[in-house]
Amino acid sequence: MTFNDRARLDPSKVKRRRTATGVGVGGGVGLIAVFLISQLLGVDLTGLVGGGGVPGGTTQDQGQALEECQTGEDANASVDCRMVGAATSLDDYWLEAAPTVGVNDYFTPEFYLFSQATQTGCGNATSAVGPFYCPADTSIYLDTGFYEDLRTRFGANGGSLAELYVVAHEWGHHIQNLTGVLESSRDGETGPASAGVRVELQADCYAGAWTAAASGTDDPSGTPLLETVTDAQVRDALSAAAAVGDDRIQGTDANSHTWTHGSAEQRQKWFIIGYQNGPGGCDTFAPAVP
Ligand SMILES: [Zn+2]
Repeated sequence: MTFNDRARLDPSKVKRRRTATGVGVGGGVGLIAVFLISQLLGVDLTGLVGGGGVPGGTTQDQGQALEECQTGEDANASVDCRMVGAATSLDDYWLEAAPTVGVNDYFTPEFYLFSQATQTGCGNATSAVGPFYCPADTSIYLDTGFYEDLRTRFGANGGSLAELYVVAHEWGHHIQNLTGVLESSRDGETGPASAGVRVELQADCYAGAWTAAASGTDDPSGTPLLETVTDAQVRDALSAAAAVGDDRIQGTDANSHTWTHGSAEQRQKWFIIGYQNGPGGCDTFAPAVP
């Protein structure tokens, strides 16, 4: 997906944290990494990474705005600035679209780039967890190194829309936090028809809805942020959605009862439903099996 070179970005929408020191997860790194890998693009890390909060009363790194990211040209040139471009577009989209899913008090989530490890309102997290949304501090956390993993470890095509899809999915979890779906669906069940999978598929659906409308989002001066999405770019986003399907991550003989995010087929299906019907079509809780 290509940004209009002259569009103005809002650098304050994404903040970069310094690489944390002393946030390590102790001796259990391997075990925790293996466990958390199943949480890719996940929702709720509460209790998973131990402790929670900020140890020893140290001050949380508030991060620095990505001031080098001023224009669409910057977004086309660097992945960090693409995150700013994505945030600028997603915020503009959801300001208008949130009421259609019953949210009348929409506000912008915090969005932090980090590397290796960081402290969050949901506990300490390492990059092994993949990008995630923490409802406790209404923040998205992302290490752009994940995009390399998407291509090399999970076999996605890559491409800029695949990167933006990941952000749009996490933004979708923020919307779900505001609709109350995140809170009401936290039953700890797994499997293809579990509430947890329905939450993930709805976030994919919201990502598809944004994708279809993205070229209609504007910068603060009214300049369109993005050029019209191409079919090839949509295929790249679908490839990313499939790559993080539970059956792909867990293997072909995976036990579907352990699924937390849905199969490759389910994730692609709901992205397309959102793409074609908008966020109002994203009721992943209605069908017996979504
Ligand atoms: Zn998710």
